[in-house]
Amino acid sequence: MRRVIFKMDIIRTKDVVYEYIRRDDEGEVVGITTAVDHVSLSVQQGDFIAILGHNGSGKSTLAKHFNAILLPEEGSVWVDGKLTSEEDKLWDIRQSAGMVFQNPDNQIIAQVVEEDVGFGPENMGVPTEEIWRRVEKSLKDVGMYEYRKASPNKLSGGQKQRISIAGVLAMKPKCIILDEPTAMLDPKGRREVIEAVTELNKKEGVTVILITHYMEEVVGADKVFVMDGGKVVMQGTPRQVFSLVEDLKALRLDVPQVTLLAWELKKRGLELPEGILTKEELTESLAEAYGR
Ligand code: ADP
Ligand code: MG
Repeated sequence: MRRVIFKMDIIRTKDVVYEYIRRDDEGEVVGITTAVDHVSLSVQQGDFIAILGHNGSGKSTLAKHFNAILLPEEGSVWVDGKLTSEEDKLWDIRQSAGMVFQNPDNQIIAQVVEEDVGFGPENMGVPTEEIWRRVEKSLKDVGMYEYRKASPNKLSGGQKQRISIAGVLAMKPKCIILDEPTAMLDPKGRREVIEAVTELNKKEGVTVILITHYMEEVVGADKVFVMDGGKVVMQGTPRQVFSLVEDLKALRLDVPQVTLLAWELKKRGLELPEGILTKEELTESLAEAYGR
């Protein structure tokens, strides 16, 4: 017997528009920026999604709609089936979808790691015993349990970001939205954070929406959205998106180095498939075409 498994949309937006009003020093309106311009998209429960786009393309503004930090001026956003514009759903929405931001120093409030992680569930009125269970599990999930008694300001950037992620996890969200969480980290910190998030997605089934400038972090995603001028201008698997090297260049975006190399080689006449994403794929393809 065939079984069809329907994945539910954890996030859905329909024709979302959001504008900022620009004012001069005297407070006079000088213009309007349409930061999000009729965006309709959906993210399925359990997926790992990446959002790309150069600075000012509207990624952060859109992401803030995913847990009702911002409400659309036009259009609608549903989080786990709930409309973000319904005020009495705000609590549920914030619990379903948690945000991690760029600067780890702005997100940590307590003096001890485990207290920081427990802050969210405590605010939600979760019973004390359950809070400690969640704190333990969340810290283990991001590989930071041994630092539970540490002072957050003694930790590295990558460790602090993992504490921030644990803090969101402790609220048991279905979805985590990370807005350039690795932008301020060194390569080691970046790896730690991406590994932690990937594990959460694979093992715990947490939906991940990752905004990033680092193409290498996108390669493992289920789906990529590319934004430009407030619109989603491309979407597809990493392979589909990164096959469009010229289009990405026009959007002032990079592609992974190995993808670019393969593309250059292909242009020179080597027989290679489109959208190579990893060193292994390139090696395999070259060996297949030219090895003996
Ligand atoms: P991204 O995250 O892709 O860099 P943003 O969502 O931050 O893009 O910004 C989209 C557009 O909205 C940009 O033109 C930016 O200058 C503008 N913008 C963002 N935040 C504000 C704000 N608080 N006030 C006015 N304009 C803003
Ligand atoms: Mg941004």
